[in-house]
Amino acid sequence: MALKTGDQYVQSLKDLNLEAHVMGRRTGDLPDHGLVGPSVRAVALTYDAAHDRETRDLFRVHSPLCSGEVNRFSHLHQSADDLIKKVLMQRYCGHATGCCFQRCVGLDAANAIFSTTFECDQKHGTDYHQRFQKYWAWIQQDDLVVDGAMTDPKGDRGKRPAEQTDPDMFVRVKDRRPGGIVVSGAKLHQTGMLNSHEILVMPTMNMRPGEEAWAVCFAVPTTAEGIRYIYGRQASDTRKLEASTLDMGNPVYGGQEVMTVFEDVFVPDERIFLDGEIDFSGAMVERFASYHRQSYGGCKVGVGDVLIGATALIARMNGVEKAGHIREKIVEMIHLNETLFACGIACSARGYQTPAGNYQVDMLLANVCKLNVTRFPYEIARLATDVAGGLLGTMPSAADLDDPLAGPYIRKYLAAADGVAVVDRMKVLRLIENLVAGAGAVGYLIESMHGAGPPAAQRIMIGRQADLEGKIERVKQLLDIG
Ligand SMILES: Cc1cc2nc3c(=O)[nH]c(=O)nc-3n(C[C@H](O)[C@H](O)[C@H](O)COP(=O)(O)OP(=O)(O)OC[C@H]3O[C@@H](n4cnc5c(N)ncnc54)[C@H](O)[C@@H]3O)c2cc1C
Repeated sequence: MALKTGDQYVQSLKDLNLEAHVMGRRTGDLPDHGLVGPSVRAVALTYDAAHDRETRDLFRVHSPLCSGEVNRFSHLHQSADDLIKKVLMQRYCGHATGCCFQRCVGLDAANAIFSTTFECDQKHGTDYHQRFQKYWAWIQQDDLVVDGAMTDPKGDRGKRPAEQTDPDMFVRVKDRRPGGIVVSGAKLHQTGMLNSHEILVMPTMNMRPGEEAWAVCFAVPTTAEGIRYIYGRQASDTRKLEASTLDMGNPVYGGQEVMTVFEDVFVPDERIFLDGEIDFSGAMVERFASYHRQSYGGCKVGVGDVLIGATALIARMNGVEKAGHIREKIVEMIHLNETLFACGIACSARGYQTPAGNYQVDMLLANVCKLNVTRFPYEIARLATDVAGGLLGTMPSAADLDDPLAGPYIRKYLAAADGVAVVDRMKVLRLIENLVAGAGAVGYLIESMHGAGPPAAQRIMIGRQADLEGKIERVKQLLDIG
């Protein structure tokens, strides 16, 4: 079993021949498409890192499931140390790409499904765990990318799935045929979907009696018949189609979000991992969400490293790096970023073994991690905007820099500290712009808010996990209150 290189991964993606609706056009050859290419390169880096001398030890790990060495992005965590290494790996990828590298959502789904199916089988006598083990061993052996699909459109948020005018507002079992089920619905906000070989679909929330049709978990290939992809637009995305890479901000890498429609998609029995067992839908959601909330203590921190580095560099280029308040602001950015990292490491270090054998993060600390993630990157972005200056929002384009008439004025009036080339200063400003207000802000800010659930979801979990009654009891004992 050989781990793929980035090039081999890209070739495997091309072999899928996926098509999507991109900006009003049905489009093929996606990996070579200007809008899609940067996101493919970000995923490819997760493959190359398993071969680079400096990172291979972190990215490679022995998997007892397939009795071989796998890329850590497909590993079922066997210890708290594995959980910590996951966060370190994610920080590395965020730092190296400056964007969302898309591959962790499938990893988080797999670990949640692995432990939930085990417990479901124990209670209901189903055989989901065995099916999932077989399926995931194949994913590991073929070193595949898996999209983790949880978020349903949800329609009217005040209504349950069965109360919606359109039952497809939550992915559901629509029909049953010999040997499998037929599913219908959609999953929104699918990160890296078109860069994936497989999709793991999970319920979006805890289902109740009468909602069995929506308590469904399954895997399908991204090439499955009946699936339609509609590409997500992002601020400044068409800059990726321009001749110069300067205005892109991040000239090499980028993220990807896709709306995914399931129109009567057949799922064979061996790919079904939950089918009506409502009592395990909530556990699956909570476990996936906790792993994913841990993930942000790594990936967003890595992207934060890029933003902090760019902010310190622009301060130097602008000639203000030694000013006291600038130094303080950069230290504040580092403090916020490392606090997120500390939360990611803490919930990993306190991870525990599930009855299935893999390791689950500490759910309280993972939710604290994510709740901080809904705030700190915004503050880091605010400080970066302060330090960078107004050019972030007003700078002329790369085309004008190259223009024989306008270019000389830009070079004259955008000059700052001696020895700094104007084009370099523009590159750094564009990178900061990308992260605080451009396409990169989708991954760094909007995903920090909503990815793995909005802040209210973390507050609910924190309230549930914090043993408030235990704390009250302790105070009563301390004060001798009956
Ligand atoms: C960049 C990005 C990447 C993502 N990647 C993935 C992915 O790869 N896979 C995946 O499955 N999902 C993904 N998500 C989806 C993410 O989990 C959801 O965006 C998140 O759960 C919020 O759901 P929503 O967007 O439908 O917002 P909503 O649910 O509409 O939430 C909006 C607001 O309404 C509140 N609200 C919602 N319902 C209620 C209610 N019943 N009562 C009271 N208040 C309510 C929320 O608390 C929030 O404040 C991604 C999202 C983003 C932005």
